[in-house]
Formats: sequence, structure tokens, C-alpha cells
Amino acid sequence: MNIQELIQKITDITIWKKGDQRAPHKPLLLLYVLSQYRQGHERLFNYGTEIEAPLFDLLNRFGPQRNHYYPNMPFWRLQRDGFWQLTNIENCINNNKPSKEPTSKQLTSCQVYGGFDEPTYQYLTKHPLIINQLAEKILNQHFPESVQENLINQLEFDFTDFYRQRDPKFRQLVLRAYNYQCAICGYDLRHDSVSIGLEAAHVKWKQHGGPCIVNNGLALCSLHHSAFDM
Ligand SMILES: [Zn+2]
Repeated sequence: MNIQELIQKITDITIWKKGDQRAPHKPLLLLYVLSQYRQGHERLFNYGTEIEAPLFDLLNRFGPQRNHYYPNMPFWRLQRDGFWQLTNIENCINNNKPSKEPTSKQLTSCQVYGGFDEPTYQYLTKHPLIINQLAEKILNQHFPESVQENLINQLEFDFTDFYRQRDPKFRQLVLRAYNYQCAICGYDLRHDSVSIGLEAAHVKWKQHGGPCIVNNGLALCSLHHSAFDM
């Protein structure tokens, strides 16, 4: 197993996109699984008892608003990305229409298990720091800043210098342009003239080409920053 290859495969996972809308299903599943590996989980996860409910919850909290969430889709579709393996799928495949994807119910009743393939899993358990590196990569690539922080807390990752790449000037200029107030609620708490709990949000996400310039910034309190990014 070559780590560069693995990082490349994870960077290249195919994501459903429509215009500026993106579906973070696979990234959320991968982050969840990596967080569990960090805590010593064995290679495979039982879909019905270990994936469906927690992934549904993550999609509900961190995904775009939808009437329905389908945790079965990323679990099934990751198979095509080159490092993800499922077992017990024989009874789940519709022989008349093999391209039809199994529902959550079918994955559960067939006791389908899934996880990273054996060589990748072996590599990760021997190099736990790589788990963090992969998780950081996924967070940076697919989520805006305030969502990243919530996800890190929720999944109990501990990254030491995750925030190093931020541009401090951007924050300064944006807060100044908004007169050190939240653009939504006017919140402007300061302590010894330092703004507290006020953040510079990117209107268009930095990781999707949104520049760090005032025109692409919005001063928001942390509450409204999270709400805005969601
Ligand atoms: Zn606010």
C-alpha cells in the first residue's frame, strides 16, 4: 500500500454535484469510519447496526437540507472508488436489474458489512497518524470552516495544527468592513477592544475557489456563521 495512492483515491472520490450544490454523503461516511478506526474499530462495519443511524444523523446535521436522507447510497457507491469493500452483498443484488441499488432495508436484512479493504486497513492501523491526515484532507476538501469545527468535535478528532492555513488578514479586513458586528444580529461583544466570537465567513467556500477578499467575506457571530455555512 502506497500512501500517496490512497490519498489520491480519497481525493478523487466521485461526489454528486449539481451546479454549486454538492452532496457530502461519501465524505461524511468516510469521516465517520476513520473516527471509529481511530478508536480501534475492526475493519468492517455492520450497515444496519453501525452505519445507518449514525450516518443518517450526520447527514441530517451536516448535509444539505433534504426531505429524505439515504445513508445506503454512499455505503454502496464507495465500492467504485477503489478502496472500499462490502461483504454479504450476494442476496442484495437484484438479478433482474443488477444496476439497481439496494435500499437501507435490504442492506440491513442481508447483514451487509463494509469498510476499507484489507491492505488499506492494515496500513491505517499501523500508521494511525495517517488517519488524521486523511480526515483533514476530507474536511478541507468538502466542508466550510465552521462545519469543519463542528465535525471535528462531534467525531472527536484531535488535530494539532489544523487551523494553521487560515489567512488572519482576511478576518481582520472583513471584521473592519462590517464595523465589528455580526451582519445578521448585530452582535458586537468586545473585551479590551478585541472582538469575541465574531468570525469572517467566506461567502463562496475557499476550497472551491472563493477568494480571501473582503467582497467574498461576511462578518458573523459564531452562531450565525454555523447557520450560514449549513
Ligand atoms: Zn449573529
